[in-house]
Formats: sequence, C-alpha cells, structure tokens
Amino acid sequence: SVFQRAAFYTTVNRLVDLPAPDGVEIAFAGRSNAGKSSAINSLAHRGRLAFVSKTPGRTQHINYYQLGNSRFLVDLPGYGYARVPPEVRRHWEHLIGGYLQTRTSLYGMVLIMDVRHPLTPLDRQMLAWFASTGKPVHVLLTKSDKLTRQQAGRALKDVLAFLRESYPQCTVQLFSSMTSEGVEEAAALLGAWLGL
Ligand code: GDP
Repeated sequence: SVFQRAAFYTTVNRLVDLPAPDGVEIAFAGRSNAGKSSAINSLAHRGRLAFVSKTPGRTQHINYYQLGNSRFLVDLPGYGYARVPPEVRRHWEHLIGGYLQTRTSLYGMVLIMDVRHPLTPLDRQMLAWFASTGKPVHVLLTKSDKLTRQQAGRALKDVLAFLRESYPQCTVQLFSSMTSEGVEEAAALLGAWLGL
C-alpha cells in the first residue's frame, strides 16, 4: 500500500499555519468514533500511526502525515461529539470549512461513516462544504463486520442512492479495520488519486 511509508509530518490548528500547498494531499474526515484512526492505521499497516480511541472531541487539530514525494495524508479532527462547547464548534467550522473549500493542493476527501449510522447531519455538512469544489469524495462505510452481509449490502445501497442523487462525484465502499474488508480497494483508489 502507498500508505505504508506514512510518517508524522506536522500538526495545524489555524488555517494560516497550513504547510505551503505544494504537494498533493488527501483529507480523512468523519464523526468521532466512526473508525477513522483505525481506517488510517489499516491503510498504513501500522499499529499506531493515528491514535485510536482518543477522548472524543478533544483532538481538534489537523494532523499531516507524509507519504513521500510531497504526498500527504491529512487527518481532520473528528466531529459530532455531543458535548462540544459552542466556541470549539465554531473553531472547527472555521478551520475545517476553510480548509476544505480553499486548499488548492487537496485532491479529494475520504469520508468515514459507521455503516450502522451513515449520513449524520455533520456528514452532510462535510459533503455540502466539499461539493462546491467539484473534487472527489470516497466514502468508507466502516465496521462492516458489525452487520450481516445482507444488512451491510442494504446500507451500501442506501448511501449510494443518496450520493448518486446529490453528489455524483462521490464513490462509496464497505470497509472494516477488523476483517480488512475493502482495505486493498481503498488503498488502490487513493494511490491513484495521489498518482502513486
Ligand atoms: P475515530 O474516533 O473515528 O478515529 O475512531 P477509532 O478508529 O478510534 O475507532 C473507534 C472505536 O471503534 C474503537 O473502539 C475501534 O476499535 C472500533 N473500530 C474501528 N473500526 C472498526 C471496525 O472496522 N470494526 C469494528 N468491529 N470496530 C472498529
């Protein structure tokens, strides 16, 4: 996988501190606890590249990982934690909304959703922010191992139907960090995005 050589690069908490937009990057976004860190770790075949099971809502920073050759994986702060204070929520909206809408070196977004609870209001907000850019979004429906084949297939079909209607530049697949379902498929697509 192209992510195998990923190494921590930098942490950013303000838009002005973003690295120069010289390379190509892919952003990972998702509701807290959806399985974003686990997905990144599965793609990177590493134990703890991103920290799994952090206190939800606390990690408000953008974390950059370098994949070599000016290619970056960008881990956005998880969202949707119920008890987040309004000023933290405003900071998140400014930072993430601003990043997604203005970042010229951003190729596309990977949106992580728990296959059992897809398309929450903030997931839809992320899609809406990004839709105006015309850039691709790839949805990973994580924790597919938690559902039967039939249930997972139904969830995939429902999300696909929603995306086809509203976000034709989106693709979607099932994913599990537990069984590795979909890891190779995702790695292949993201490698193509990065030109690797
Ligand atoms: P994040 O907050 O989105 O980064 O989510 P984490 O990756 O920290 O995962 C949250 C919880 O879900 C942890 O307890 C993980 O072990 C669990 N988890 C993540 N991915 C999977 C998966 O594919 N299958 C199962 N069964 N559990 C998962």
